[in-house]
Amino acid sequence: MPVYDVVITNSHVVLPNGIVEKNIVIDNGKIALFTNDIPSCDRKINASGLISIPGVIDPHVHYGVYSPIKHAAITESSVAAIGGITSIMRMFRTIRSYKDILHKHISASSNYHYVDYSMHASIFNQQQVNEMKYCVDHNITSFKLYMNLGSHIGKIHMDMDDPIINSLQETTVEVNYELIKNVIQKASSLHCPVLIHAEDYVTCYNNETKAKSKNLDGLKTWSTCRSAESEAIAIKNVCKLARDFNCTLYFVHIGSILAMTQILHEKDKGTKIYTETCPHYLKLSYDKHHNYNAKVMPPIRSINDIQHIWNSIRDNNIDTIGTDHVANRSDLKIGHNIWTTLAGFPGLGTSLSILLSEGINKNRISLSQLVNITSTNTAKIFGMYPIKGSMQKNADADITIIDLKKEMKVKNISFHGHSDYNVYDNMILQGWPVKTLLRGELIAENFEIVGKLGSGKIIDRHITKY
Ligand SMILES: [Zn+2]
Repeated sequence: MPVYDVVITNSHVVLPNGIVEKNIVIDNGKIALFTNDIPSCDRKINASGLISIPGVIDPHVHYGVYSPIKHAAITESSVAAIGGITSIMRMFRTIRSYKDILHKHISASSNYHYVDYSMHASIFNQQQVNEMKYCVDHNITSFKLYMNLGSHIGKIHMDMDDPIINSLQETTVEVNYELIKNVIQKASSLHCPVLIHAEDYVTCYNNETKAKSKNLDGLKTWSTCRSAESEAIAIKNVCKLARDFNCTLYFVHIGSILAMTQILHEKDKGTKIYTETCPHYLKLSYDKHHNYNAKVMPPIRSINDIQHIWNSIRDNNIDTIGTDHVANRSDLKIGHNIWTTLAGFPGLGTSLSILLSEGINKNRISLSQLVNITSTNTAKIFGMYPIKGSMQKNADADITIIDLKKEMKVKNISFHGHSDYNVYDNMILQGWPVKTLLRGELIAENFEIVGKLGSGKIIDRHITKY
């Protein structure tokens, strides 16, 4: 009789073809089998009354911008693990040559993650376009375009340039038509998806100039300026290019009715599109939330938009959920008005709970839809499936165990991250991750890190043929 490493007993297990009540047997970091028995093992985890889902994969995380990557990897992967997330994808942002800087960043963080990780490469100039093949050869098989950056609103904080230099890197960039075209063309030839931040910067700039001249302020003004129309314009323009060059697009952070409608229209025209939304577009609206801390690009919208995005998940029109987590602190973040406040806020610790509390417990989506958008689709789109993304024999034993009944008031301090605030602070959410396993090892339990620093590894990705 073999002795297995771990058996998770008595939980409801969400498998690709339904929910079963089986014990999950884990050996050498992989799922070995599902059974009604309890085979001999080194460790038994009793998960009675709980639900086991595939470890959550967050495809959209900014860390290494407001603290050096070595530090950020520790703090933010802790938040991820506590939040039930077993893999994070860093939205790597630099204007430097990837040939010069990629290895430095990878080695600087390689011993400091609690969860597995991968990267997307942002492209800001022609040199980087020429290095896209180099990125693919080094396991980065997805690229990001910021259509919101140009003219007078092209300023953004890059990731801290050198992993050992601890200073902000504010840079001005111009993501123009020529660059977008070249990235799409190159990505298509490499069979890689392009992640699109879809906001038309000309529209946004004109709106912002007008609003500032009238001394307008607040989150609703922010939403009016960075309008859903500006998203729809950008979506339309980039989809035309994607069809011309047969490129697959992945729209990040979609949270408005208009953007969603435009995407469906472009899909009807034959564009290959994946769509991501974020937890804040499922919970926060300018109707109810007025704290500057919820400033984000694209902005939080209305209560109607929130309902529409939930419906879009229910109708399987949204493929993934990413947090767009930004690991900043309030002294830097909060300004005197909406214009001087920085965009972006942390979301890793609360993402799964928002889906459980507002989605599952309010019967808006099913558990299999939850698993699809938090793990399976994400793994498939970014070339990690079937090692990640579902619980099946020989897959990595990345497992998040959730308690749908657990009710808790959000306290930022619970997540042990770099940020000192949370936009959901004091909200009561029902449904929380209580145990997180990475390749069979328990890494977080009841809001405490129990894993070993450095146990998170870089994820091997393959090119998804489509
Ligand atoms: Zn982002």
